[in-house]
Amino acid sequence: MVEMPKTYKDLPSTPITFFTTEDNKTGTWRTIRPVIDKEKCTRCYICWKFCPDLSIEVEKEGDYPSVDYDHCKGCGICANECPSDAITMEKEMGK
Ligand code: SF4
Ligand code: SF4
Repeated sequence: MVEMPKTYKDLPSTPITFFTTEDNKTGTWRTIRPVIDKEKCTRCYICWKFCPDLSIEVEKEGDYPSVDYDHCKGCGICANECPSDAITMEKEMGK
């Protein structure tokens, strides 16, 4: 049976990562991705407001929002909060 570490001192001395999420492409953790339907989008930016990961981007007021897929984790909050049902969560096809 594998012995579980009791403190961090029982683990290798190297950190898990040397980079912040700004550099790490944490979007690779995602299994489903938000896809925005511009036909339905009213540009209310509620998705932008609710995203806990700053992964909804709006270049300037009046533009359609887009998703930063390098960092979006696929939590689905944006799709849940969109009042126009303009965001669907689609399965990642695996890359
Ligand atoms: S919440 Fe929905 S309708 Fe509003 S900007 Fe985002 S995608 Fe568009
Ligand atoms: S799925 Fe989650 S992390 Fe990705 S854009 Fe929507 S709210 Fe943000």
